Amino acid sequence: MSRSLLIDALRSPVRPTVSVEFFPPKDAEGGARMLKVAETLKPLGIDFASLTYGAGGTSRDTTITYGAELVKMGIPLIGHLTCVGHARAELAGIIEQYDRAGFSGILALRGDPPKGQKDFVAHPEGFAHAQGLVRLIAAERPGRFAVGVAGFPERHPDAVDDLSDIRFLAGKVAAGADFVTTQLFLDNEDYFRFVDRARAAGVTVPILPGVMPVLSLKQARNFCGFCKARIPDALVRELEACGPDEEAQRQVGVSWAVRQVRGLIARGAPGYHVYILNKAESAVDLFAALRG
Ligand SMILES: Cc1cc2nc3c(=O)[nH]c(=O)nc-3n(C[C@H](O)[C@H](O)[C@H](O)COP(=O)(O)OP(=O)(O)OC[C@H]3O[C@@H](n4cnc5c(N)ncnc54)[C@H](O)[C@@H]3O)c2cc1C
Repeated sequence: MSRSLLIDALRSPVRPTVSVEFFPPKDAEGGARMLKVAETLKPLGIDFASLTYGAGGTSRDTTITYGAELVKMGIPLIGHLTCVGHARAELAGIIEQYDRAGFSGILALRGDPPKGQKDFVAHPEGFAHAQGLVRLIAAERPGRFAVGVAGFPERHPDAVDDLSDIRFLAGKVAAGADFVTTQLFLDNEDYFRFVDRARAAGVTVPILPGVMPVLSLKQARNFCGFCKARIPDALVRELEACGPDEEAQRQVGVSWAVRQVRGLIARGAPGYHVYILNKAESAVDLFAALRG
C-alpha cells in the first residue's frame, strides 16, 4: 500500500481503519509463529500491521527481515524506528533499508533508555526527541512513507504536565507526521480528553487509539505497569470475579476491548490499533464480536 492510500484509509469516514501490532520474534520458531498469526489475521480485514523496534537497535535486523516477510504476504507495514543509540547517518541507513523492504510507513519514536539507565541520553550525533527523526525521514525520503508518531492519552511518563506533552506532540506533527498512534489505554475517556487537548493544540491528523485485549489480571498489571497505563476498577473487578480461570479472564479482556472499540468508533475515532502481543486468539475473537 502506498503512503497516500494508507493516509486516505486513516482519513476515510466510511470505514474504521484497523491495524495490529507485532513485535520482532526472538528466534526462527517465534518468527514462524508470528507469520502464522499474520496469516490468520490478514483475511479478517486489517488495513496494516506495525512491527516494533527493539531497545538500542537490538531488533533492527529482525524488524527489517520480518517486516519484509509481512510485506510479501501483502500486509502493508509500518516499521517502528527509535533514536536509541543511533547517529543520524545510521538512522538514514535504516530508513533506506525500510524503503527497500517495501514498508509503507514508519512510526518515528524516541525510544526508552536502555535497561539499567534511568534517563534518556541522546547519541552525540543523534536525536534527543522523536521530532528530529520525523524531520530526518521527510528529508531522506520526501513523500515516500506515511509517518506516524506516538501519543499518550495518560501523558508520557517523563512529561512535566499535559500541556507541554501535547505541545511536543503538536511539534512532531508540525515536523511532518501524518498520524498518531496512541499508547494503550483501558478507559476511553482518557482517549477523548487527549484528542480534545490535541485538537486544541492544532493537531488535525488522525489519532488512532491503541487497544489491548488483556489476557489476565496478572498480565494486565505487568504490561500496564510497564507502560504506565491505568487499569479501571471495574475491569479489575470483572477479572477478579473469574478467579484463577485464565480462559474466563481472557474472555473478559476481549469483551472489555469490544466495548472500548464500539465506544471509540461511535464517538468518532478513525479506527483502532490492536496490541496483539503476537497472538491471534483474542484478536480473532475481537474482530468476530465487532462484526456480529
Ligand atoms: C504506539 C507506540 C509504539 C511504540 N513502539 C516502540 C518501539 O517499537 N520500540 C521502542 O523501543 N519503544 C516503543 N514505544 C515506546 C516509546 O519509545 C517510549 O514511550 C518513549 O519513552 C517515548 O517515545 P516518543 O516517541 O513518544 O518520544 P518523544 O516524542 O521524543 O517524547 C519523549 C518525552 O520528551 C518530551 N518531549 C518531546 N519532544 C520534546 C522537545 N522537543 N523538547 C523537550 N521535551 C520533549 C515528551 O513530552 C515526552 O515526555 C512505543 C510507544 C507507543 C505509544
